Amino acid sequence: KFIVFEGIDGSGKTTQVDLLQQRLTAVCKKNKCYVTREPSDSPPGLIARGAIKGTILLSPKTLVWEFIADRTEHVEKVILPHLENGIHVICDRFYFSNFAYQAATVGFERLLDLNREIMEQIRPDMTFFIDTPSEECARRRALERADEELFDNNEDLESARKNYLRAFEELKDIEKSAIIIPRENAQRTFEIIWLKLVKE
Ligand code: C5P
Ligand code: MG
Repeated sequence: KFIVFEGIDGSGKTTQVDLLQQRLTAVCKKNKCYVTREPSDSPPGLIARGAIKGTILLSPKTLVWEFIADRTEHVEKVILPHLENGIHVICDRFYFSNFAYQAATVGFERLLDLNREIMEQIRPDMTFFIDTPSEECARRRALERADEELFDNNEDLESARKNYLRAFEELKDIEKSAIIIPRENAQRTFEIIWLKLVKE
């Protein structure tokens, strides 16, 4: 299975990725699982990460291409080979992140177009959107990480969240996805996610 987690910064994606990895490892005796993320470690992925951090200067339009190039590499060289070997793949961000963050640069329709070849190659068996309120994400980020990434302030987080919601709504008939409202703690939230996966 190929399972994707999406959400704005500080929404708790990575925590859920870890919890799912632990659970899958405990439950599945035969199938191992592999955790990965985007931007990945491919050459364009490294450029994209540099651009996000501000260590590499790229025009936002060029950055869109880096994300697409990275995903092309990631799918072909990492995700598909693992799946073909019967290994579950859990991915922290995938094409919905483009719809959330790059829609302001080139528009949703264009992004859909740019991702078309990838979408023909592979579709997640499930994409979870962790819909943590942007105020909470901003608060966590201020506490936990003092990094200088883009999309830091509450306004940017909220606009990314809105773009995510729009994309999930537009694609709900063709993408297996679930919007997860966080519970009082990460473990409780994870149980909702697990229940969905088991029901699939
Ligand atoms: O939390 P994570 O390590 O995935 O954060 C990566 C950063 O890259 C975030 O600040 C996110 O806003 C940004 N990003 C982006 N466009 C994407 C994917 C990630 O701007 N398509
Ligand atoms: Mg993260």
